[in-house]
Amino acid sequence: MRQIAIYGKGGIGKSTISSNLSAALHEMGHTVMQVGCDPKRDSTRILAEGKFIPAVLEEHREQLRIGKDEYAINLKNIVFKSPGGIYLVEAGGPEPGIGCAGRGVLTALQILKDLKAFSTYNIDVAIYDVLGDVVCGGFSMPIREGFAEEIYLICSGGFMSIYAANNIARAVQRLAKRGDAGLAGIICNSNGDEAFEHAFIPAFAKRLGTPFVQFVPRSPVIQACELGGRPVVEYAPDSQEAEIFRNLAKAIIENDSRVIPTPINDLAELETMYRQCLVKDKK
Ligand code: SF4
Repeated sequence: MRQIAIYGKGGIGKSTISSNLSAALHEMGHTVMQVGCDPKRDSTRILAEGKFIPAVLEEHREQLRIGKDEYAINLKNIVFKSPGGIYLVEAGGPEPGIGCAGRGVLTALQILKDLKAFSTYNIDVAIYDVLGDVVCGGFSMPIREGFAEEIYLICSGGFMSIYAANNIARAVQRLAKRGDAGLAGIICNSNGDEAFEHAFIPAFAKRLGTPFVQFVPRSPVIQACELGGRPVVEYAPDSQEAEIFRNLAKAIIENDSRVIPTPINDLAELETMYRQCLVKDKK
């Protein structure tokens, strides 16, 4: 089974990219499970007609409340199937103010493993959509514990998204040395400044030692699909945008690059690289 993790800053479009990727992989014939690893539990909404699905941690808490353990959980109460045929899971989060969100995500992933969810549904590609604002010990657990083997970073031309991507690459550099995980590439989810993004993000990927995999433009079609709670390949199958997600799915399936990245450790160097490209682009 391929285990692909999509990391990026909150609000950068991880759910948009991962949902549309899941749908395109499903269209290619893969049996896909998308696992939302963000306490907001909204990763799978685009695939679930805009609805929130119940989270693993909620069900786990309910079992604990009645004196049972995770083995009492019925997979039917935590794994759902989208109308298009993609398996959906939301890890969920801790009660506000209590507990560690990252550890909660790990508990949810461990429950899926213990209940043999992947083999039960014959999953051949698992997509993990992971919050990457803080690359703390908690949110790096999917990498550390071997759930996330191929890691993709999502960023746009906004500096904060690049800063977050570089930080995630630093975590991958540290953790990849211990196991099989590696950085597989960078995906740009455009914020609209396309000329700058085309100049900077491939150069940033090269600096990190990883492939630049796909450019996803800002698009009213993608926004309409999100509002309609349907992925692009289902909602607008003949659109240019659907072709972009099919290309992304194909590129990811064919990509066997897993590197220990070479991130920029000095924030001043990252800022200088960014500013120099920005100045060149605006001339
Ligand atoms: S490790 Fe991360 S997720 Fe866990 S409590 Fe600390 S900041 Fe939150």
